[in-house]
Amino acid sequence: MPSEPFGLKELIPLLEQDVVRTLGVRYRAIIHDAAANVEMMGGVARCEKLVEDLQQYFQDNLGDTSWPACPRHPSHALSYRDGAWWCDRDAVPIAAVGDLSA
Ligand SMILES: [Zn+2]
Repeated sequence: MPSEPFGLKELIPLLEQDVVRTLGVRYRAIIHDAAANVEMMGGVARCEKLVEDLQQYFQDNLGDTSWPACPRHPSHALSYRDGAWWCDRDAVPIAAVGDLSA
């Protein structure tokens, strides 16, 4: 299994679905801004970097330190890995990216 099955192009519309469903449509544009930044920087693990940048943005602008919230432990954020959202505490995948519950 490749370590990064998605490129940014595949990831962006799925991330949009998750952001719109959980935070609202007004935050859709920030995904494209963040993705443009990540693309300019180049390097590996760009999908992970994009998600981290978004999480940082929501923390800075919404005071939301746990987006996306883990359904098992609501006090921490899920981590993005390999096209899925993971609970690091239990080391289990919670949902495919794009398939997050509201
Ligand atoms: Zn958890």
